[in-house]
Amino acid sequence: MNVYDSAKMADVLAPIGFTSCSDAGSADMIILNTCHIREKASEKVYSELGRLRHLKEKRLRNEESTIIAVAGCVAQAEGEEILRRAPYVDIVLGPQTYHRLPEMVARATRAGEEKNNYGRGVLDTDFPTSQKFDYLPNEGGSQGVSAFLSVQEGCDKFCTFCVVPYTRGAEFSRPVEQILNEARCLIEKETKEITLLGQNVNAYHGLDEMGKEIGLGGLIDRLSEVHGVERIRYTTSHPNDMNKDLIRAHGQQEKLMPSLHLPVQSGSNKILQSMNRRHSVENYINVISELRNSRSDMALSSDFIVGFPGETDEDFEQTIDLIKEVKFSQAYSFKYSVRPGTPAGVMVEQVPEELKDERLFVLQDVLKKQQTEFNSSKVGNVLQVLLEKSGRHASQLIGRSQYNQAVHVNASQYYVGQVQDVYIDSVLSHTLQGSIKNHVKDIESRQKSERIEGEHV
Ligand code: SF4
Repeated sequence: MNVYDSAKMADVLAPIGFTSCSDAGSADMIILNTCHIREKASEKVYSELGRLRHLKEKRLRNEESTIIAVAGCVAQAEGEEILRRAPYVDIVLGPQTYHRLPEMVARATRAGEEKNNYGRGVLDTDFPTSQKFDYLPNEGGSQGVSAFLSVQEGCDKFCTFCVVPYTRGAEFSRPVEQILNEARCLIEKETKEITLLGQNVNAYHGLDEMGKEIGLGGLIDRLSEVHGVERIRYTTSHPNDMNKDLIRAHGQQEKLMPSLHLPVQSGSNKILQSMNRRHSVENYINVISELRNSRSDMALSSDFIVGFPGETDEDFEQTIDLIKEVKFSQAYSFKYSVRPGTPAGVMVEQVPEELKDERLFVLQDVLKKQQTEFNSSKVGNVLQVLLEKSGRHASQLIGRSQYNQAVHVNASQYYVGQVQDVYIDSVLSHTLQGSIKNHVKDIESRQKSERIEGEHV
């Protein structure tokens, strides 16, 4: 979501003369787009701001001014505190107000004349009633072959460990037509695959052109009809919002890729309840089985938190049992750590760090084995890979299989942006190595004709 937001910030700033640059030391404006999900997120932001302060002061000595802006969820949560602790910061803006960045820059510039360009004190962290998407331009820089498209924001679920409902606000879904227009603009700029984004993306319920509310399954149907869209994914989902229509779309829409990130967090009903996840282990397993009935080759990934307050050995074992039952193709796992202001942060039964370390080690070992098993099962098979960009080595391209695995192939730039049948040769830790099937045929026929030529000679 922050990658998408940063690209949109660049888009809204372009008309007033800003372009991206790679060196903070030569920038007229530096935006820290922050994420509050990270552990000790605000302290990391203050430490980064300390570094930028030196940069700003150095430039001021050369009579060059720098606007420092803090955006995103830490800005939303900290608000005025940032201006108090880091008085050299010029703009603090939340994730729902960045469409107003040009206006903030103008205010900061005016204030800079009075304040000698040091700490211009512009704060805009409202949750505005008129939504930012109405003001964001569709036209902007290219996101490349695979692009993000935000369809939903905010969350009403209030899991007890999470800050999102406090920083991103209530659930909101964009209208269908607005999303399709943005998709068409992305397609014009080389995009082939669109990942629909939302903090709770499968809670999507936007209005279509007739004023009728449609869910994510219906939106995927509409997006599939857009000429040039070759692949669709969505993230991140909540198990409770995997409704029948969305599961149906997985079975029907060929452009919808057979991989899904569906966080479960724990395999213990007691812990799920304490997390306020509002679903049980049984509900989760049921959703998975319906998904696999709809599309038998679904690859599943998930998020796990170990050491949530009150987690016993038995609760942890139940998480391992769930993992063994579902079998994940990949996963993200973390030790529970307190997010200030959340209910779980003040729960009394906090789990000791050493125990969290032990449990994380065990859990990651099981998940790693499952990922290796899943990847190895593809060796000797042909996968459909969208080739996205050059790799680190000469003549290497990087792409993604339909199951969201990273795949490396040796091929020319000509193939970038194409979905190719790739024969998988081997597995290298987290990536697959393969060869383009047609490419192999080309080489084989070339070798054959060379052999015949040789025989003639
Ligand atoms: S559903 Fe996701 S975003 Fe919403 S509160 Fe829970 S973890 Fe946070």
